[in-house]
Amino acid sequence: MLPCPWIEMPDGSMMPGPHSTTSLGSRNGQTRSSNYVLKAGNDLGLIDTGMQPWGLPELIGQIDKLGGRLNWIILTHFHFDHIGNAAALAQRYRCPVMAHPLDLPAIEDPLIMADGKWVFPDSPTTLEEVARELGGEKKEEMTREVLKKYFHFPVKIDRAIAERDEIPLGPWKLKILETPGHSPGSLSIYNPASRSLYIGDLDYIMNPSNPWPISNAKDLISSVARVSAMEVEYLGIGHYNGIAPKWAVAEYLDDMRYRIQATEQRIANCLKRLGRASVTQLAEEVFPIIPRYGYSPLHKSAVQCFLHKLVDEGKARKVNEGGMIVWESTSS
Ligand SMILES: [Zn+2]
Repeated sequence: MLPCPWIEMPDGSMMPGPHSTTSLGSRNGQTRSSNYVLKAGNDLGLIDTGMQPWGLPELIGQIDKLGGRLNWIILTHFHFDHIGNAAALAQRYRCPVMAHPLDLPAIEDPLIMADGKWVFPDSPTTLEEVARELGGEKKEEMTREVLKKYFHFPVKIDRAIAERDEIPLGPWKLKILETPGHSPGSLSIYNPASRSLYIGDLDYIMNPSNPWPISNAKDLISSVARVSAMEVEYLGIGHYNGIAPKWAVAEYLDDMRYRIQATEQRIANCLKRLGRASVTQLAEEVFPIIPRYGYSPLHKSAVQCFLHKLVDEGKARKVNEGGMIVWESTSS
């Protein structure tokens, strides 16, 4: 078990959660989300809850140490490393859990992902089609066994929150922003009192999407542009330590925008050079990682969501090649 230090931040304290790049890492507790305990006098609020069972004792320890009352839990998006401890904490502290309605189905019943009953509301394809686009691979990350192991069931959402909602905490009025891209219902939470913004995994560019089903590159780009324009003083991200002060936040988000553009450009260039390629072929060219790790579904779906954007813009087209999906460049 990795140590979990609590770090001071403008609105309270946070526990940085590492993110492993291997699927083994996500099974042995190396992957966790960063959790933020906001404290306004005796009122506490929690943003994201980590991955069951790792982090639960630390979260309880910190909340109890700070004293006061846990008023609410906000989940930035549906991914298991962010919501895994929500039910246990909500039950213990008898507080409501809030999330965006678009991510709600997969939070309240994660098994719908394993059962193939849920696809992103904005996904252009069915689950079967997404699988064929990825080379027909079985998605081992989201089996029933994996999901059951890492969730406390059920995670009931007491209140669906969306753009323009304001969530009070002591004297603060936290603003809810819709920042989709990483998931359809990804939320950011803004505290104008400290100019702190909590963006969940919006900055998770290497793998901008959940592997199953795919994410939305166009939304990701506009959401990042939106938060970049806000000039925040403290940026709470979904993994690792938060970022401050304002100039460092600006640099971090600028870097992210450049990396998104570079990834898209590399995919477009590779496709143009190859003429026709599968997601797997493109992933190997676009993400030069250590071969022994192989190319995970995350890498492939990162490529996949940019390919959908290129198709939307008329720069690529999808071709059915004997039951498998390949992609063709349309630029000469
Ligand atoms: Zn995520």
